Amino acid sequence: MPEVKLINIGKTYEGGMQAVKDISLTIKDKEFLVLVGPSGCGKSTTLRMVAGLEEITTGDLFIENEKVNDLDPSQRHIAMVFQNYALYPHMTAYQNMAFGLKIKKVPKAEIHKQVMKAAEILNIEDILQKKPGKMSGGQRQRIAIGRAIVRRPKVFLFDEPLSNLDAKLRGQMRIELAKLHKKLDATIIYVTHDQVEAMTLGDRIVVMNQGEIMQNATPMDLYLNPNNKFVAEFIGTPKMNFIKGEILKIDGELFFKNNHFLFNISKVNNQQLENHIGKEVDLGIRAEDIYAEVGNLENYGKVHAQIVAIELLGNEKLIYSELEEHQLVAKFSAEQEVQIHTTIDFYFNLNKTYFFEKENGKRIN
Ligand code: ADP
Repeated sequence: MPEVKLINIGKTYEGGMQAVKDISLTIKDKEFLVLVGPSGCGKSTTLRMVAGLEEITTGDLFIENEKVNDLDPSQRHIAMVFQNYALYPHMTAYQNMAFGLKIKKVPKAEIHKQVMKAAEILNIEDILQKKPGKMSGGQRQRIAIGRAIVRRPKVFLFDEPLSNLDAKLRGQMRIELAKLHKKLDATIIYVTHDQVEAMTLGDRIVVMNQGEIMQNATPMDLYLNPNNKFVAEFIGTPKMNFIKGEILKIDGELFFKNNHFLFNISKVNNQQLENHIGKEVDLGIRAEDIYAEVGNLENYGKVHAQIVAIELLGNEKLIYSELEEHQLVAKFSAEQEVQIHTTIDFYFNLNKTYFFEKENGKRIN
């Protein structure tokens, strides 16, 4: 079965740029794996090494248990869909999709069968005679995917395939890609810088930064259990709030303290926090874990701050406030009465707080 395995893979470009540093990763058969991270973190380089478009500097790459480091792209049984579609402008959709098979001297009848099958899967039978110049962005993207499907690859590689589409179409295509994955029952490696795209499409997500893997987990696990501050900040909208402070022990109880407040965190304590007494840390909390009112104060920390902006989302609203150098965002239900420029109490659910080491952003609790 087409499993893809990267073992200690690294890439140093000519001139010394170390784009990918020693990453190890297994993409299971039929898995939809998303590589996500900020621009320049090494996602495309990683994908291009799998495709064979970029030489691997160190490490081993296996596709279906075969080491493929030195195989040509055409011998790897993969198909790649690019951001810019890379369609031939003088050919019709049909010819674009058929081209790869024609080069391989596949019989005409077989080519026709594969093209029509892909066209049916993608619902593009009616545009097969159109040339790319006469198509919409979404149609071009479908043809580019169709061209990959007809080759019946073991693994599909997608490099930011939706980033040239407008927001609405991107949303639609996201849903179509998820459906397509089910229909094709295929192994997919998908690169994007968009964490929402990653969260909606991936069975599993690998978050990268500066050529390294920050975390490899399911979407929910990344959201609920980030290993470090980078992942905590990168995943989720609005971004997680971070507040600098210090861990203290007073009369046998553990506290998180900064210039504005003192939270008793004895209840959420575990041995890890105990090991950071006297040290500076970042407290992290998501907007939805901050409330304007709570029934029972136990396990909540109170923060007094002025509202500087309110953003209505429909059934919810985002409340922005400032706490010295920290901007704070809370998500309240739309019915919650709050006025801009007033100072109110915000209640942090201490059971939903995260603590990170100041020096390296590693999760503590
Ligand atoms: P991403 O896809 O995450 O945006 P890339 O893999 O394209 O990142 O790039 C990773 C790093 O490698 C970046 O710093 C980029 O400038 C550098 N890089 C990419 N391609 C080349 C190249 N051909 N030569 C030198 N450096 C490159």
